[in-house]
Amino acid sequence: MTKAAHPTYWPALLEARDEAPGVRTFRFASPTGFRFTPGQFLMFHFADDPKTWRAYSICSSPLTEKDYFEVTVGMVGAFSERLGALKPHAEGGLAVRGPFGKWVYDGSARHAVLVSGGTGLTPFRAMCLLKIGMHNENRITLCVAAKRPEGLLYRNEYAGWRQNGISVNEKVTQPGANSNWEGEIGRWNAGSVFAAANDAAAVYYLCGPNKMVQELREGLEGLGIPPQNVRTEKWGDYTDLF
Ligand SMILES: Cc1cc2nc3c(=O)[nH]c(=O)nc-3n(C[C@H](O)[C@H](O)[C@H](O)COP(=O)(O)OP(=O)(O)OC[C@H]3O[C@@H](n4cnc5c(N)ncnc54)[C@H](O)[C@@H]3O)c2cc1C
Repeated sequence: MTKAAHPTYWPALLEARDEAPGVRTFRFASPTGFRFTPGQFLMFHFADDPKTWRAYSICSSPLTEKDYFEVTVGMVGAFSERLGALKPHAEGGLAVRGPFGKWVYDGSARHAVLVSGGTGLTPFRAMCLLKIGMHNENRITLCVAAKRPEGLLYRNEYAGWRQNGISVNEKVTQPGANSNWEGEIGRWNAGSVFAAANDAAAVYYLCGPNKMVQELREGLEGLGIPPQNVRTEKWGDYTDLF
């Protein structure tokens, strides 16, 4: 990939909103000709610190790519916290390159099973919005997990996703004594993912911390899912969000 294929943009921040405690979604104006496929990510850096780059997956629909793109970011360290402090329409000195990545979903899989932990849900939102926007008949089964109910990202969108034929399956690991959580408690493992999907011929997309992704891959392959149908995106060595 040449540098020219991925020029640097300085996109205007149009909007920022809290998505969950410690997690914010940022909407940026798209540069001219901006196009992406769900699953792809962008590389961000600040002008005064050109050596520090961070990857963020695009979480908005490709159907709105001409006007804007969104990323959802957990505030977990120096870079993400600096991003979190950006104010819409103010000069933030933020540069973006991309999109990058071949871990993509273009709507053509007959049944895609999307499994995430914590903020790993971000690229799956773009995938769900693509299916909905295309009025695509292909199946999506989504398996999401968070530590607490309020940590389930995009939760107010799940009803709309379900109305559009997406099977949304939620789990929470530590609901808390005072929560009204009546759903499932625990983590996703290969057995529970397979039970939710009930399809050995589906394509399984896994996204989140390395350990979760690796364990699920091994488990799904152990259940007989062909390796080429288990597609993984590893974000790093962390487990603390869920
Ligand atoms: C392809 C790709 C796509 C990514 N997309 C997203 C995205 O859409 N949203 C997002 O929030 N992050 C995403 N990340 C992670 C992101 O690039 C940064 O690693 C993260 O924001 C931490 O950077 P930092 O400088 O703030 O903290 P650092 O000081 O670099 O890291 C602080 C700690 O947080 C851990 N960590 C990193 N990412 C996360 C996370 N998401 N949740 C909890 N802990 C984490 C690190 O392993 C480290 O232990 C993606 C990573 C990759 C490789």
